Amino acid sequence: MTDIAANLEAVRERIRNARIRSGRVDHVQLVAVTKFHPVTAVQEAVRLGVTVVGENRVQEAVQKQAEYTGAPISWHLIGHLQRNKAAQAVQYFDLIESVDSARILEAIQKQAEKIDKVQDILLQFNIAEEPQKYGLKLSEYEDILAAVEGASHIRLRGLMCMAPLVENPEEVRPVFRVAYNVFDDLRQRYGEEDIRYLSMGMSNDMEVAIEEGANLVRVGTAIFGSREQ
Ligand SMILES: *Cc1c(COP(=O)(O)O)cnc(C)c1O
Repeated sequence: MTDIAANLEAVRERIRNARIRSGRVDHVQLVAVTKFHPVTAVQEAVRLGVTVVGENRVQEAVQKQAEYTGAPISWHLIGHLQRNKAAQAVQYFDLIESVDSARILEAIQKQAEKIDKVQDILLQFNIAEEPQKYGLKLSEYEDILAAVEGASHIRLRGLMCMAPLVENPEEVRPVFRVAYNVFDDLRQRYGEEDIRYLSMGMSNDMEVAIEEGANLVRVGTAIFGSREQ
C-alpha cells in the first residue's frame, strides 16, 4: 500500500526546503499528478490538502471527474491534446498546460468560443528538443505568440516544460534556466497579472526546478507510487 499521507508530507518538505534554499518568498503550487491512479487516490489527496490535480489523458480525466466527490479542485491537463478532444478538454479543464502547436491552439480557441469560455493555457516548450517529446521549439516562439494574440477566447498564463530524464537532476538545470528566461520574457510582454505560471519539475527534479524559478511543480510518483505505465 502506498502511504499517500506520508509521501505528500515528504514532497511538501522537499518543496519547502528548495524554496528556502533559493530564498524564494513566493508560493510554489503543487500539482498532484493522478494519471493512472483511481479516483479514490484523488479523493485521499484532496482530503490531505491537495487543491490541484494533473491528468494527461482527457478521457481518463472526464471519467474521474464524473466519479469524483469531494471539495472543488482545479484540474490541469498536462498531456498532449489531440484536436478531436479539444471540445472536452475545454469543458473539463481549468488549465491546459500542454499547448504544443498552433493547430491545437486554434482548435481550443474554436471550442472555447463555442461555449463562451476564456480558456487558460500554458505553452509547452520542448527546450532540449528531444525528438520523443511533444512541445514547441524556441524557434517557434514569435509565431505561437502571434497566434495567441489573435485568439479571443484564450488567456495565456505562462509556460510548461519537461526536462530530459537523467540520473542526476543537476544536469537539467540549464534547461530550467532557459525556461525561466522565457517566462521572464512573457511577463515583460504581457504583465505579471496574466503570466503567472512556470510549470516545471517532477518527482525526480523538483528541487532544481524550484531553485530555477518554477512555481507549479507536477508530481506523481513521489506521492502515489509507481504507475502501471
Ligand atoms: C506523468 C507526468 C508528470 C509526473 O511525473 P512523475 O515523475 O511521476 O512525478 C509530470 N508532468 C507530466 C507532463 C507528466 O506526464
